[in-house]
Amino acid sequence: MPLTQAAGHAPLRLGPEPCLPDRPEDGGFAPWPGLQGWSPTPAIRASLALHAASLCAFLAAPEWWRTILAILGSNHALLTCGMWPRSTMLGPNLSRLPVPAGCDPGPIALTFDDGPDPRITPRLLDLLDRYEAKASFFVIGREAVRHPQLLREMVARGHSVENHTYAHPLGFGCWTPWAMQREIQRAQDTITAICGQRPLFFRPPAGIRSPLLDPVLAVTELRLATWTRRGYDTVSDQPERVLRRLLHRLAPGDILLLHDRPTRHRSMLEEVVPRLLAHARGYGHQVVSLRHAPLPPDAAARPGAPACPAPAAYASRSGGDCRADSGNARRRPPRERGSAPGSAG
Ligand SMILES: [Zn+2]
Repeated sequence: MPLTQAAGHAPLRLGPEPCLPDRPEDGGFAPWPGLQGWSPTPAIRASLALHAASLCAFLAAPEWWRTILAILGSNHALLTCGMWPRSTMLGPNLSRLPVPAGCDPGPIALTFDDGPDPRITPRLLDLLDRYEAKASFFVIGREAVRHPQLLREMVARGHSVENHTYAHPLGFGCWTPWAMQREIQRAQDTITAICGQRPLFFRPPAGIRSPLLDPVLAVTELRLATWTRRGYDTVSDQPERVLRRLLHRLAPGDILLLHDRPTRHRSMLEEVVPRLLAHARGYGHQVVSLRHAPLPPDAAARPGAPACPAPAAYASRSGGDCRADSGNARRRPPRERGSAPGSAG
């Protein structure tokens, strides 16, 4: 659906019937209300006002065009800072899970980008099963078409499949809103058709967001999700160093980023993932997918979105009361935070 139609408050019908969980205990998310529910951040509002004022100034005094252009250039340079993956200057960004009060230890989320890949994904799924961990896979639509059975396997094993564009274009952050919408929607429709699960989260290539991305996500009913810490597993050939980056000051609510594709080190995931999961288990962190994590505060504030529920992940561990689990966590033998990754098991 074009952006202009959504701006006219037309009802959103996006491809096949969405397969959203409808019960709060399933970690259900309410769908986005569409573009009419989009609320620009103060930085975007200020920028829009500045552009309007600049247009008026140019019409009133065209000879000042150099000054006006310089002001607009400075504004765009400032907005560029908001394109940084973990920035919230340009719109909501889930870079960390909200951790409900009293839930100690809280969950951590594991995310894998760029899959599926038949050389990596099956081994990765087995590793996750071994540690009873769930993850979110930000897949590339084009790769999903090549290996649809891998997407179905992800869903069958309780993981979530999310949107990482159709073709992973590295210049995505510079595209027009209409081009971005086509790319995202194509991946959205492809993934939904293959695995019957509509993605709820979007992560742009390299995490670089455009200042114009937020209204596109409102229309496509997706939330931006980046990460708290990343391992740089695609560029490093040292698993120890990747693991250290992920575990250093690991805290409840952290969203971790790795990649579901071949890396410089041939057995990077086999070296990193088991020790990462053993470490998380040792501290009592449950490893969850984003879909089964608590609702982020910015989403709860959106019209039509539900209040923050306790997710099934917590309830299943503690008989429905996440506070009950915190006592168990405190009774575990004390372990020193920030210990050497190799000692994590
Ligand atoms: Zn990627």
